[in-house]
Amino acid sequence: MRVLRRGDGGPAVAEVRSTLAALGLLPPVTGPAEQVLFDPLMEGAIRAFQQQRGLITDGLVGPATYRALRDATHQLGGRPLAYMVSAPITGDDVLTLQERLLELGYDAGRPNGVFVGQTEAALRNFQRDYGLTVDGICGPETVRALRQLSPRARGGRPVLLREQERVRRSGPRLRGKRIVIDPGHGGADTGIVAGDVTEAALMWDLASRLEGRMVATGMEALLSRGPDQCPDESERARFANDAGADLVLSLHTDANSSPHAQGVASFHFGTGNGATSTLGEAMAGLIQRELAKRTGLRDCGTHPKTWDVLRLTRCPAVRIEIGYLSNAEDRARLVDPAFRDVVAEGIVVAVKRLYLLGENDQPTGTFSFADVMAHELLARG
Ligand SMILES: [Zn+2]
Repeated sequence: MRVLRRGDGGPAVAEVRSTLAALGLLPPVTGPAEQVLFDPLMEGAIRAFQQQRGLITDGLVGPATYRALRDATHQLGGRPLAYMVSAPITGDDVLTLQERLLELGYDAGRPNGVFVGQTEAALRNFQRDYGLTVDGICGPETVRALRQLSPRARGGRPVLLREQERVRRSGPRLRGKRIVIDPGHGGADTGIVAGDVTEAALMWDLASRLEGRMVATGMEALLSRGPDQCPDESERARFANDAGADLVLSLHTDANSSPHAQGVASFHFGTGNGATSTLGEAMAGLIQRELAKRTGLRDCGTHPKTWDVLRLTRCPAVRIEIGYLSNAEDRARLVDPAFRDVVAEGIVVAVKRLYLLGENDQPTGTFSFADVMAHELLARG
């Protein structure tokens, strides 16, 4: 493009002048475009703009200043934003999006107003955590969600801020929350077999115990399968999405060629290089801590995974591997119905903790099902 300077005139000058007017740096343009002049007033406005933007303050409209003017006209929500590999979208709307994601704790990279792959990854994580359609496109739905987040959510610990936001939106009560319980395997797929017990039957039984407690607290609990069905992982995820679940809990036990392997582990969506479902990770951590404390199972930690049931669900999802059926100690625990009650209670308490988020906190392992019920009654009204 031709560099525009004082003394120039015509349509190109008129376009820049109307941009400056839109930005509030000049009065609106009047008269035909051919007669618009690059006058001292316009030069002053260009200098002011250049200073604001950290550009060389020369009063000339070259490529950098022209691009910055174009970028400045885009406000978040004015157009859909997405990752265009060959010609990345730039603009102040992208900058606002990046800054908002960073404030909320999503690693959107350096806020530079260029929609790059990292911007998209951060946007997808945000969409996933907030139950939006995970398409990596910043459209009306995503803009609305970003706007609804309170301006309080600035500058603190991102994870806590996000959780507080979640509480503000959904409240600490379990009543009305919709949980999909996903007992692993089923039907012809028995999962792990150890003597006369199968993973599928044990997890079906555990799911029933969990369901009963969740319904008692006022939650809506849905099972992802019938007693003799075995939908595949993507069908289970679709079921949860169609149900509009707030949370998915997938129940499994583990096995290993070594009879010494034992313990409980929890898994949430994550790629292992930083991309993670924040609420999924929080939920996995709460479940893991309660179960390790209450059950005596060895604590095998929480881990990010990209398994379909974690990846394809729109809400936070956690898969729990409760003990090793190939280990004598773990197996003895799992076949005891009283033990499965302890597991179910631990999971309900962990879910309650997710929604309490530090309020009325009690040490891990001490919050009882009766406490949960009492809190639900108090919170009613
Ligand atoms: Zn399994």
